[in-house]
Amino acid sequence: MEFEVVIGLETHVQLATSSKIFCGASAAYGGYPNEHVDPLTLALPGTLPVANKKVIEAAIMMGLATNCQIRRYSRFARKHYYYPDLPKGYQISQYDEPICEAGSVEIKLQSGAKRVIGLKRIHMEEDAGKNIHDVRTESSLVDLNRAGVPLLEVVTEPDLRSPAEAAEYLRVIRQIVRFLGISDGNMEEGSLRCDANISLRPLGQSAYGTRAEIKNINSFKFVERAIEYEIARQQSVLRGGGVVIQETRLFDSASGTTRSMRGKEESADYRYFPDPDLPPVVVEESWIEQIRSSMPPLPAALRRRLIDEYGLSEYDAEVLTAERSTVDYYLAVANAGKNRKLAANWVTTELFGLLKRDGLDIENAPVSAERLGELVGLIDEGVISGKIGKTVFEDMWSTGRSAAAIVEEKGLRQNSDEGEIARLIEGVLDSNPTQLGQYLSGNERLFPYFVGQVMKATKGMANPQILTKLLQDALKRRTGE
Ligand code: ADP
Ligand code: MG
Repeated sequence: MEFEVVIGLETHVQLATSSKIFCGASAAYGGYPNEHVDPLTLALPGTLPVANKKVIEAAIMMGLATNCQIRRYSRFARKHYYYPDLPKGYQISQYDEPICEAGSVEIKLQSGAKRVIGLKRIHMEEDAGKNIHDVRTESSLVDLNRAGVPLLEVVTEPDLRSPAEAAEYLRVIRQIVRFLGISDGNMEEGSLRCDANISLRPLGQSAYGTRAEIKNINSFKFVERAIEYEIARQQSVLRGGGVVIQETRLFDSASGTTRSMRGKEESADYRYFPDPDLPPVVVEESWIEQIRSSMPPLPAALRRRLIDEYGLSEYDAEVLTAERSTVDYYLAVANAGKNRKLAANWVTTELFGLLKRDGLDIENAPVSAERLGELVGLIDEGVISGKIGKTVFEDMWSTGRSAAAIVEEKGLRQNSDEGEIARLIEGVLDSNPTQLGQYLSGNERLFPYFVGQVMKATKGMANPQILTKLLQDALKRRTGE
């Protein structure tokens, strides 16, 4: 029997705010254990949460970026469970009134085709702390630095159909949050984590099959691997005549397998109810408009602009909009260097080549975009050839000097080929018999005229010292004839 794969992802995006979601403690990554902790983080009696406005703004931004409806009235809710890393005994999240609903994101498949993935909701919540089980001392330690760090949970409809689509969707989410500047999207540091819900259904059946939820996926590679394993597992269960049970499974990256962790908890188990300590989140239309107008352009809009206005290929546009820093750099090169297509070639080949060779990020490129733009301008104007341009670029890279300074100092703009210049001089003298006759009969003021003609013949590239000397020689020879 053939099956169709159905996947829904729940992605946690850790927001890059300076303070936590309901108190003033630092939300920075790292630190000594329990360094970023205050009375509220510890859930000491008498403490009360106050929502961080930046978190609500980030949620609205994310909602606008993913075509969501923004609720004018949403609520925080308590989700109860007991764990040592959760001192309050409940997590503050959102339940039936999340801030964003009914959105979509577009992903591009390997085939080049595009698919729209529906978003059910985006809600705000606090992260929990971390339990560390120390085998040496046979004790468990609790680090509450992460407790109360703000998260957005982005939940898709069950619209994804393969492990590759799931990974691509996650890349798009990462790209959006990075462009918006609301998260660094760093999977290694846990700024982006996802749970994958997977089910199979016989081809042609419209009802969804029973799903399993895989937790603990923390890299792009593992998203695909965990889902692939889970598909194979469910397939063999179903082909063997068994049934998939709804449960939460844990991905073990070492073995590449998933194992059962617990039966699926029902939402009733969490005893959700609106948090009485926090007022409802009321979002005025004017606030949404203010956020919308201050949002940076997103990758999709930038891609369109590079294709329509800058005349770039879809491929170049895609490569150049992978990161905000890349597109910013490219735009600055293009604006300084005028020839936009040539600027794109230089960024995607020479610049990327040297960044890769030296293991650098574009933010740390030793050549600024304006300077690369100047170089592209020199090439575009024919002052130097593209080939010379590459050596000039390497020189700029290692010395930090400008293209113009290098070209001047190294005389790169000039044609110093004496044989060629001498030949061009003979050609100019031969084709200007009248002026040559006047010169030879004493009108030495015609010398600059010949210089100009030869310069023109070398497209302005002749070395003037060589030209002057060779021209004097040639005229002397003709005087003697
Ligand atoms: P819950 O309330 O149990 O968390 P949701 O309806 O919010 O369930 O869905 C959680 C995630 O599971 C969503 O991303 C959703 O798309 C996905 N999902 C729901 N049903 C299925 C299914 N049958 N197969 C795969 N994914 C599913
Ligand atoms: Mg859920």
